[in-house]
Amino acid sequence: MSPLPQTHSTQANDSTAAATTRAESFILSTLTTVAADLIEYNTMHLACQADRLITLTQESDIEPAVAELDKLGAPVFVLSGGSNVILPEALHASVLHPAYKGIEVLAEDANSITLEVMGGENWHELVVYTVNQGWYGLENLALIPGLVGASPVQNIGAYGVQLEDYMTHVKAFHLPTQTWHNFDKADCQFSYRDSIFKQQAGQWLITRVGFKLHKDALKVNANYGDVSSLALAKAQAEKRSAISAKDVMQAIIEIRQSKLPDPKQLPNCGSFFKNPIIDNGQFTTLSAKYPNIVGYPVGNEHTKVAAGWLIDNAGLKGKGIAPILTHKKQALVLVNHSTADSSTPASQHDILATQQLIQQTIQDQFGVALEREPVWVNNEARH
Ligand SMILES: Cc1cc2nc3c(=O)[nH]c(=O)nc-3n(C[C@H](O)[C@H](O)[C@H](O)COP(=O)(O)OP(=O)(O)OC[C@H]3O[C@@H](n4cnc5c(N)ncnc54)[C@H](O)[C@@H]3O)c2cc1C
Repeated sequence: MSPLPQTHSTQANDSTAAATTRAESFILSTLTTVAADLIEYNTMHLACQADRLITLTQESDIEPAVAELDKLGAPVFVLSGGSNVILPEALHASVLHPAYKGIEVLAEDANSITLEVMGGENWHELVVYTVNQGWYGLENLALIPGLVGASPVQNIGAYGVQLEDYMTHVKAFHLPTQTWHNFDKADCQFSYRDSIFKQQAGQWLITRVGFKLHKDALKVNANYGDVSSLALAKAQAEKRSAISAKDVMQAIIEIRQSKLPDPKQLPNCGSFFKNPIIDNGQFTTLSAKYPNIVGYPVGNEHTKVAAGWLIDNAGLKGKGIAPILTHKKQALVLVNHSTADSSTPASQHDILATQQLIQQTIQDQFGVALEREPVWVNNEARH
C-alpha cells in the first residue's frame, strides 16, 4: 500500500485563469468519456453504461464542470468507490468521480491532531496511514471499502465506532445551486447509517473531510465481539500486556477478512439489508419460537434483530437466484457470481430478483420486513 501523500496544497486557491483552462479541457474530457462503462467502478460488478464519466482530479475542476454539465441539462451523479450502490444498466447521467487527493495537518498538540483529507483518498489507506503515524481513533473502521468523501454520507460505522466520533467538519459543493458550504459535525445531522447528505441524496459533492484524532496508543475501543481477545493475543505475542490501537486495527482486519468476501474476488456491496427494528412484543413471540434468535435492545420498547440470522435461519445462506446468491459465510452479503468476462454480466434486475426472494421469505417466515442498505440508483440517477 502506498502511503498517503503528505501534501498539502489543496487546489481551492487556483487562479481564475487556471480555472478557465480547466473549463476548456473539461469540455474535451467530456467528449472522450461519453458512454462510459462503469462495471469496474462498482464493487458489485454490475453492468452499467453511463452517458458520461468525469474524473475530477482537482477540487477546482468542480465549478466549471458542473456549470458545463448544467448547460447539457443531464442529471449529475456522484460515484466514489462504488461500494454502496446498485447501479442501473443504463445511467442517463453525467457521473462525477472524485479523484482529488491530499492530506493536511490543520492543528497539532501533544495529545491530538486535526487533519483535513481530500475526498478522493481511499478510506482504508487513510486508516492505516493515521495509525502508522501514531494518530488514533479510526482503527475500528479499517477495511471499509470506498473513498473518504463518501464516508460521511452514511456515517460509516463498524466495531463500536462511527465516523461521527472522530469527524470534525466537511466541505461540500451544493450541486443544484453551485455553491460551496462548510459543515460542522452538528450540521451533518448524523445518526445510525444516516446524515444530511444521505437525506438530501444527489445534492452534495463532498470534497474535504476533517478529523480530530488522539495520540494515546492505549486508548482503544475493543469491546466488540472477538476484537479484544484477538488484539490481546497480538499484544502478548510481542510481550506487551496492554492492547494498542494498532493491535485493534490488525485484529479487525483479520476478523473482517475471515468473514466478509473481498469484492475483488467475489463482487459484493457489504451488508445488503439493514438490521430490522421491531417492537419488543414481536421479539418475545419470535424468541419463544426461535430461542436462538439474535437481537439487541433499542431503547425500552424495541429490539434490533440481526438480519443475517433471519436469512441464515430461513435456509437462505448460500442461496438466491443465480448469479446473485447470499455469501456462504455471511448470509447478509449478496455476492455476484457472474464472472468479469461473462458475456452476460449481472444487472440490477438480477439483484432485485434475489432481494425480493429474501424479503418475501423473511416476511412469510418471521413476519419481519427487511430494508435494503445500499443506494439503489435509477436510470435518471435518482436514489
Ligand atoms: C465488503 C464491504 C464491507 C463494507 N463494510 C461496511 C461497514 O463495516 N460499515 C459501513 O458503514 N459500510 C460498509 N460498507 C459500505 C461502503 O463501503 C460504505 O458505505 C462506503 O462509505 C461507501 O463509499 P464509496 O466511496 O464506495 O461510495 P459510493 O458507493 O461510490 O457512493 C455511496 C453513496 O454516496 C454518494 N457519494 C459518494 N461519494 C460522495 C461524495 N464525495 N460526496 C457526496 N456524495 C457522495 C453516492 O452518490 C452514493 O449515493 C461495506 C461495503 C463492502 C463492499
